[in-house]
Amino acid sequence: MKKRLRRASKRWSAPKLKTCPECGSAVPSHIACPSCGYYRDRQVLSVDTF
Ligand SMILES: [Zn+2]
Repeated sequence: MKKRLRRASKRWSAPKLKTCPECGSAVPSHIACPSCGYYRDRQVLSVDTF
């Protein structure tokens, strides 16, 4: 009798990093930049840059 093993939990490791066009920092793709708040050429987060 074989049991089915679940091996779907090892997938979301190490998301791809891309460079933010605004501040140039490495940001995971599909995530807004945490330092400047930009995502795909528009600002989606309100970041205070004082
Ligand atoms: Zn940025």
